[in-house]
Amino acid sequence: MRKWTYNFGLGRSEGSASDSALLGAKGANLAELGSLGLPVPPGMTIIADACTWFHEHECHFPDTLLDQVAKGLNQIEESTGKRFGAAHNPLFLSVRPGTRVPVPGMTGTVLNIGLNDQTVQALAKETGDVDFAWSTYRRFIATFADLAMGLDHAVFEELLEEKSGKSAIANNPGLSVEQWRQVIEAGKAIVLDEMGETFPQDPQEQLWAVIAAAFKSWTAPRAEAYRKLHSIPVDWGTAVNIQAMVFGNRNGNSMTGNAITRNPKTGASGVTGTFLPRAQGYELSTGDRAPHQISERGRKEAERTEMSLEAMLPEAYETLEEMTQKLERHYRDVVELEFTVDDGYFWILESRLARCDIRARMRSAVDMVHEGLINREEALTRIDPLELEQLLHPAIDPSVEREVIGTGLPASPGAAAGEIVFNAEDAVHAAKEGRRVILVRSETSPEDVYGMHAAEGVLTSRGGLTSHAAVVARGMGIPCVAGAGAVRIDAEAGTMTSMGVTLKKGDHITIDGSVGQIIRGQTQMVQPELAGDFAKLMEWSDAVRRMGVRTNADTSTEARVARKFGAEGIGLCRTEHMFFEENRINVVREMILAEDEDGRRQSLEKLLPMQRSDFIELFEIMHGLPVTIRLLDPPLHEFLPKVDSDVAEMAERMGLGEEELRRRIEAMHEFNPMLGHRGCRLAISYPEIAEMQARAIFEAAVEAAKSTGAPVVPEIMVPLVSLRRELDYVKARIEQVADDVAKETGVFLNYLVGTMIELPRAAFRGQEIAQAAEFFSFGTNDLTQTVFGISRDDAGGFLTTYRQKGIIEKDPFVSLDYEGVGEIIKLASERGRAGRHDLKLGICGEHAGDPASIHFCEATGLDYISCSPYRVPVARLAAAQATIYEGATPKAAVY
Ligand code: ADP
Ligand code: MG
Repeated sequence: MRKWTYNFGLGRSEGSASDSALLGAKGANLAELGSLGLPVPPGMTIIADACTWFHEHECHFPDTLLDQVAKGLNQIEESTGKRFGAAHNPLFLSVRPGTRVPVPGMTGTVLNIGLNDQTVQALAKETGDVDFAWSTYRRFIATFADLAMGLDHAVFEELLEEKSGKSAIANNPGLSVEQWRQVIEAGKAIVLDEMGETFPQDPQEQLWAVIAAAFKSWTAPRAEAYRKLHSIPVDWGTAVNIQAMVFGNRNGNSMTGNAITRNPKTGASGVTGTFLPRAQGYELSTGDRAPHQISERGRKEAERTEMSLEAMLPEAYETLEEMTQKLERHYRDVVELEFTVDDGYFWILESRLARCDIRARMRSAVDMVHEGLINREEALTRIDPLELEQLLHPAIDPSVEREVIGTGLPASPGAAAGEIVFNAEDAVHAAKEGRRVILVRSETSPEDVYGMHAAEGVLTSRGGLTSHAAVVARGMGIPCVAGAGAVRIDAEAGTMTSMGVTLKKGDHITIDGSVGQIIRGQTQMVQPELAGDFAKLMEWSDAVRRMGVRTNADTSTEARVARKFGAEGIGLCRTEHMFFEENRINVVREMILAEDEDGRRQSLEKLLPMQRSDFIELFEIMHGLPVTIRLLDPPLHEFLPKVDSDVAEMAERMGLGEEELRRRIEAMHEFNPMLGHRGCRLAISYPEIAEMQARAIFEAAVEAAKSTGAPVVPEIMVPLVSLRRELDYVKARIEQVADDVAKETGVFLNYLVGTMIELPRAAFRGQEIAQAAEFFSFGTNDLTQTVFGISRDDAGGFLTTYRQKGIIEKDPFVSLDYEGVGEIIKLASERGRAGRHDLKLGICGEHAGDPASIHFCEATGLDYISCSPYRVPVARLAAAQATIYEGATPKAAVY
């Protein structure tokens, strides 16, 4: 005979947590709780296959199921000492459908099955609460009519209100039994009128109608649409749990509550949560009565009451603590549960892994390692690396109330408070006076950057996550809320209006760039806490991970931040950044616009000390660690003057006519600069530029080694190579300069020359190129552009369309395209290592800060990843997780 039902909570459970395919998630959870010896109200689960059978047989139940449910029911009756449908001491049942994975649109739980004209009186007597018993009966009729008969709940309530008056709807209206009887009769009459059938008094009939309704809802249109959308096969079906009801409102010795094994905000150990004396589960969520705290632990003195479970009923508290500890030891994680005490008996209605804040998750993971519950590797896998980023910035104190006056996009994480200013000048002015400001603009442009530097945070009403404000703020590490469309900014008048609130220049606001909120006033902040649990988890990550983690840093500020966050060197320093600085750009322009090599060399002479001093600073900050410096990469015309006044100024500086200057600028125009005169092509046309940069690097390395005593190993990176001969040519120049500097200074430096792999040809010729290169660094931004043939700057529009139309799932510029770009990285790695067995492999694109891409890097055997400073802790953890999941043996990083 086929086994259709599985008992739970009857001494032993017949299933377990792993049986969710058979029993549905809820049934499997109830079975597991039962096997743990925890008190779940006894019941049985009808397996999901019964649902399939039901639909294959024109909505009939197999006879064997009828028998098995009858037998299971007898056992429930025996164990509870109550009888289903009896006039005295009746048993009531709940029917809780449960699917393998959540499917919205399914029928929900039906409580109190078995209520009828007779049993309602028994319930009233037992609970001593006439209103509760009768209003439960009324609610049961309404629910039953809705789910099992198809009478819309709202229609029922409306008609009932018409017939019996408003009082019939209220929860505890204080009616007499006679008045209640009239309400119920009215309800029954409505069902008969509307549906042409009577509400069944027979508990068995009620039970089977509810089971049938649950099965039917599996194939009803709403659930079906969802199943199709998520490819959930129809033959998974739904399981149905039949369970004895328990009553948290039976008497003074009853209650109901939600408990969590640890504090979900702080992670502190000890059970927390809320409860309501003499109440049923649903009352916890209606908010009609304020619940009490389970424990006083961790609460501020002022918030303490004598009403906690711990204080009121120490014994019940102890029982709860025992149970939660048992659950935690079993699941080895923070668990939340719903419990009911029925006349002094403790029952657990369900449990699940708790949702906790990142801080709580970190603390509980670390504590659980110390408690011996989990090992370090498990602790590391409990944390979502991306969530760490929010910890690196100041945040709004979680205990304060926020007066949110608008929302926008969470464009750069962290929170900041300050006075409102509407332009960059005011920001700089205020900052000089030591006042903190938030720069509020409709959007920002390069002219606003100095104002952004002076501001604590930026708020814009236009633009998306890749808008100027967003990108620059992220780079600076200041919070930004972008694209707050409902905020009206009148910069002239000096006002901003949002959600009916108008604020003036000088008024205080707070922005939360982690969630995109605009908050009125100056809100209390908490500063980043990089010690404690965070430090512990980072330390464990470092011990586990195989790959090195470096940073992409162009400035000393970025380098300092990254080192503080644990970067093990710089994997990419873009030298062009240094060229853009205020006092240098004109010299750079002179150099570019010079007529011949001599002219260029003169300007390069002036640039040399500037570059050198930049590198000294970087090398001093990164002392003892490797620093990869990329030679000049962008097409030169990016540096040229664009506006008329700048052109005129340049012409005067160079003693040229404006016409002549314009001609020279015009001559540098390119149709497709991304694929034009850039990268190593510049070093080949103008080797003197590469020579100047190499000299600056070597002289700085000598200098910094003297000042710090811990030399850096400069790694010079030649960009955009596709032919080995390109690399050979540039490398020869670099080596010549190294020799010269060694002779001049008497110091022989350790240094490496390598290349970026960002063109498919270089990847294919990896073996040959590796013979000339000591390292490869995958520049996955350009590599994605060149493998796809998509220009990133132009991709925004159509990639969004691609995503909407399901052509691609993810933006390949955000998450590495394993199949194409990834394949090429693998190939280049293999070929490169065939050309040079100890070739160092790294990645320095945006992808190096993306946890999913980091897993790919681990699987491909890269030596290090290099990401933006604020992603360094994210990458450290993600790299550790990747090592754990790849099962690789951790070894000392070979970066
Ligand atoms: P959901 O999936 O909507 O959470 P549940 O099956 O967990 O559905 O039931 C919802 C609520 O019904 C429970 O949280 C609890 O308050 C109540 N409930 C369910 N079964 C019982 C029962 N056997 N005794 C008392 N209350 C119950
Ligand atoms: Mg539930």
